[in-house]
Amino acid sequence: MPSKQVDTTDPDPNPIHESAIETARHQLHEAASQIDINSGVVERLNHPTRVVEVTIPLERDDGSIEVFTGYRAQHDDVRGPYKGGLRYHPDISGEECAGLAMWMTWKCAVMDLPFGGAKGGVAVDPKTLSEKETERLTRRFAEEIRDDIGPNQDIPAPDMGTNAKTMAWFMDAYSMQEGETIPGVVTGKPPVIGGSYGREAAPGRSVAIVTREAVNYYDKDIQDQTVAVQGFGSVGANAAQLLDDWGASVVAVSDANGGIYDMNGLDTHSIPSHQEETNAVSNYDSPNNITNHEILELDVDILILAAVGNVITNENAGQIEADLIVEGANGPITTNADAIVREQGVTVIPDILANAGGVTVSYFEWLQDINRRKWSKERVNDELESKMLTAWQEMRDEYEKDDKSWREAAYIIALNRIGKAKQTRGLWP
Ligand code: NAD
Repeated sequence: MPSKQVDTTDPDPNPIHESAIETARHQLHEAASQIDINSGVVERLNHPTRVVEVTIPLERDDGSIEVFTGYRAQHDDVRGPYKGGLRYHPDISGEECAGLAMWMTWKCAVMDLPFGGAKGGVAVDPKTLSEKETERLTRRFAEEIRDDIGPNQDIPAPDMGTNAKTMAWFMDAYSMQEGETIPGVVTGKPPVIGGSYGREAAPGRSVAIVTREAVNYYDKDIQDQTVAVQGFGSVGANAAQLLDDWGASVVAVSDANGGIYDMNGLDTHSIPSHQEETNAVSNYDSPNNITNHEILELDVDILILAAVGNVITNENAGQIEADLIVEGANGPITTNADAIVREQGVTVIPDILANAGGVTVSYFEWLQDINRRKWSKERVNDELESKMLTAWQEMRDEYEKDDKSWREAAYIIALNRIGKAKQTRGLWP
């Protein structure tokens, strides 16, 4: 299979929108400058181990053949098998996958999971495929990258445009070719074939847990906090509903079409989330409608960013009124905007910790699969809570050492773990 070279030039230091690889490299170099780490290790981490590119012929329902491009970027596996999602999106590229794979490396390391980072997918708009076409594409993609994945090698999961059903087809295609049922080859599967209870809600749950811990850290009471959530989808709705249950007042939520605002607090359980009814938030009966631009600038205690990347940029960073931002989405704040909000005294809890509940419960799923044991939802949620609290406390200890941001603290922990593992194992000559 062909492997692709990825552009390794230094990222533009002043972008409004930045690519995943630019952000990932920036975070790597920032963290590396603050710790004692071998420069060769940093140079190694600046590059993915490999980016596999494949072509996938698909027979459309009308009998015609179309060929799509698929990718699997594997960044680093010094701490364990590569781990990361598969997305179906028309704009996906090998370089973007490499950046997102790096992010997964940092995320798994900050959570101390025995995984490295990967990301992949197919350059296709899933909305243009019938269900049967999606199944055929998925099965053929699984076959094309079969040599590069496996429960001890690289474990995909759902991401944008893919879901539990996609993972079921992927696992079935892989298992059929290998001649045995191998549930641990992917995570995010339906529970009936080895998926974990609690996986779907896990990223939103981890966002809520770290939000609660951050509020406690600053000696505030969760019950006195007002919250705005951009992106009332899987991550945003689960986080909002838990915070609502714990007594916070969720005053604004949005989807891609716009948002709603009620200063007295919304009943988050009665608002359909994006997954139940696409773009339902803006149609929900509420005292005020607001735009996705306005929701970011609301005067609330907590702003949860759970929609897409690059929503806080140089252009709007100066207008942020929230005291605390929690990153549910990956990379919602650009590097420059991050510096601006920090200067304004806004606390930012970084994505690699906040939304890591997803990959953490994926780890639990993999453990259940390879041990052929099923955990109850209660056990999954208890173990997630415990894992999140440990990671939070480690980040807090690092944060308190000297003047740094929460993001820097998280990256320092991740890079220290990866650097130590690399130095201990040594570089193959
Ligand atoms: P989702 O599709 O369930 O929900 C996304 C929500 O954001 C929807 O309400 C959608 O209408 C809204 N939205 C989309 N584009 C928007 C825009 N431009 N402005 C405002 N709102 C917009 O997706 P999700 O699974 O909740 O993921 C949300 C984010 O969290 C993504 O960045 C994803 O990469 C990240 N994330 C997801 C998981 C996971 O396992 N679900 C894990 C870690 C990180």
